[in-house]
Amino acid sequence: MIDLRSDTVTRPTAAMREAMANADVGDDVLDGDPTVRALEAVTAQLLGKEAALFFPTGTMANQAAIWLHAEPGTEALCDARAHIYDWEGAGAAVLRGVQLRPVTPVGLTIRADDLRRGLREPSRFAPRATLLCLENTHNGAGGAVTRIAELQAVADVGREAGLRVHLDGARLWNAHIATGTPLRDFAATADTVMVSFSKGLGAPVGAALAGDASVMHAAWEVRKRLGGGMRQSGIIAAGALHGVQQHLSRLADDHRNASAFATLVDGHGGARVVAPDTNIVMIDLAPGQHADLVVTRAKSAGVAISAWSGTRLRAVFHLDVSREASLAAGAAIAAALGG
Ligand SMILES: *Cc1c(COP(=O)(O)O)cnc(C)c1O
Repeated sequence: MIDLRSDTVTRPTAAMREAMANADVGDDVLDGDPTVRALEAVTAQLLGKEAALFFPTGTMANQAAIWLHAEPGTEALCDARAHIYDWEGAGAAVLRGVQLRPVTPVGLTIRADDLRRGLREPSRFAPRATLLCLENTHNGAGGAVTRIAELQAVADVGREAGLRVHLDGARLWNAHIATGTPLRDFAATADTVMVSFSKGLGAPVGAALAGDASVMHAAWEVRKRLGGGMRQSGIIAAGALHGVQQHLSRLADDHRNASAFATLVDGHGGARVVAPDTNIVMIDLAPGQHADLVVTRAKSAGVAISAWSGTRLRAVFHLDVSREASLAAGAAIAAALGG
């Protein structure tokens, strides 16, 4: 089966498993685990931040960021299709008592003008906004990259309105590889940045939150409260470190494979493919086609793909999908779409 459902399905390579097996470890909650510390130092350095903290998941790191920046009873603004809004179980509301205010963009992702429209006039009655959450690349928008100038412009509008800025950069690695913009430049637009190790980098587990040392000091306590204090976590941090060191530049292969697949699929059965910026391909079906049916047909042809909605399919390219498999999948999906 060629599994294009997500870039989370990758399994650790033999070399990654070896790095994990041989990791130097200690009790991270008591003393700090040496491999976790090494990963945190490398991540902070890459992102140009003072400090980074290892988290079990990106979701927990995003929720910790919301906790750090937004007080209960205030509002955090985000893109209407943000992971924080769509896929985190209303965590902001449940865990921190923070209301999310989704901003619907005119284009693929929120820009400065969208945010200006989304901000409320300050009033005694309206919730006070404290935080802006941005996402780059944008998962719900098909892995779209927000270029650095746009990202800076939208963050600036937030700052002028007195908001802190958190960047959900689960796939910031892909934005960096697709544009050549240094990770630290993207990260500089935000107070805190989350990056994931278990997406394109291919590690089995892990994410990090990076920011100023004082904020990350407070983040340690929030992570503990959320149940994310991990003991000999060097075992998993070693996989993440291996991913950062060995699998970052190869993300360009995933982008090329996504693009080749998109070309093979576009137009078949009247479907329209959103030209991919990175490793995610969204396929909009022709009227009358149903996503579940195409998914079933693709599965019997050996390709697993997800139904993003009733009329949209999502295919994601990653470490475990070769060039050859990408081309074979393109042909199979074209056939499943009906010629
Ligand atoms: C996957 C993802 C997350 C959450 O990461 P987990 O490690 O799966 O909790 C957050 N934001 C975006 C944009 C993601 O794609």
